Amino acid sequence: AATETDADRRAYAVWVSEIMLQQTQVATVIDYYNRWMQKWPTLQALAQASLEEVNELWAGLGYYSRGKRLQEAARKVVSELAGQMPRTAEDLQKLLPGVGRYTAGAIASISYGQATGVVDGNVIRVLCRLRCIGADSSSPAVIDRLWDMANALVDRSRPGDFNQALMELGATVCVPKAPLCGECPVKQHCRAWRRVEKELAFASQKLFGKLTPVPDVEDCGVGGCPLCPPATEPWDSSLGVTNFPRKAAKKQPRAARTATCVLERRGCHGAPEYLIVQRPSSGLLAGLWEFPSLPLAQDLQEEKQREVLADHLRAWTGWPVVHIFSHIHQTYVVYSLPLDGDVTLDPALSPSRWVTEEEFLASAVSTAMKKV
Ligand code: SF4
Repeated sequence: AATETDADRRAYAVWVSEIMLQQTQVATVIDYYNRWMQKWPTLQALAQASLEEVNELWAGLGYYSRGKRLQEAARKVVSELAGQMPRTAEDLQKLLPGVGRYTAGAIASISYGQATGVVDGNVIRVLCRLRCIGADSSSPAVIDRLWDMANALVDRSRPGDFNQALMELGATVCVPKAPLCGECPVKQHCRAWRRVEKELAFASQKLFGKLTPVPDVEDCGVGGCPLCPPATEPWDSSLGVTNFPRKAAKKQPRAARTATCVLERRGCHGAPEYLIVQRPSSGLLAGLWEFPSLPLAQDLQEEKQREVLADHLRAWTGWPVVHIFSHIHQTYVVYSLPLDGDVTLDPALSPSRWVTEEEFLASAVSTAMKKV
């Protein structure tokens, strides 16, 4: 960020990278980020792009509403804020759709040098271990305390570097499963590590029949503390520092089945072409293109599945479906339907078009559809 002298460009670049990095690995993002910044180097350029172009570039990155919201927010900055990015974390969060507390803190500290902390998954893990916070790390009481800690800890002169260093510590040293405590630069400040060290010392003293330990103030165990491990789940010596952070049990993902049909015809040069249709502009995978698809009831028999899909296709093509081959792959039930003649597409239905394989791959389609 230090090499870009224009504050708006700096903030825009950090913003794009932060949105892309939500739920996505750095290695995956780099290529998308470079292509994005090449195509839309400024807010103004992004504001003029179409949603179709944004979805095309985003294809394969997942969580598609991120790209859409980024573009909507860029339009807002250009039309309502005279093209100037808000200059504080508070204003960024308040004025930009899709910018939450973390993203606002990251943009403000990295781009403007505002001394404000950030709390992401990595920071949650590091701070919970540093302070032996054993209550559910997604509870509001814990989250509020972590933000207070991050804001208090942040380096006043180099807040952007400090925040990135803290996140990097979580990503490379204080990792979820086997943290490298021996190499950790903050181990002297880490209560979880001290506790493990104390237990080791106690075990060796016991071996040689020496002293009994004095109880630790962190073992006070007075119930009702919103930050301590709950009495039902005390410290487990076999887990060491990975006792923290604690999370509430994850909800199981919902099972869903979708029938999807690859409809193929001979294009004008003899090459095969496939029918793709556009999804609605809101909801999952909004505005992306896909092969004609139909959600299926969980317990539908295969024969019935073919029937409902055939009805659906008849609505698209006005054509009786002659032959359908199918195989089932996980939750996508994939059908293939080669056509002998041409069909007329009903313009009253969602937008649809025929594409060659090459055009298909360049369209705004999800990774799942590419697999199909
Ligand atoms: Fe994480 Fe271990 Fe460092 Fe503590 S000492 S912050 S647990 S890596």
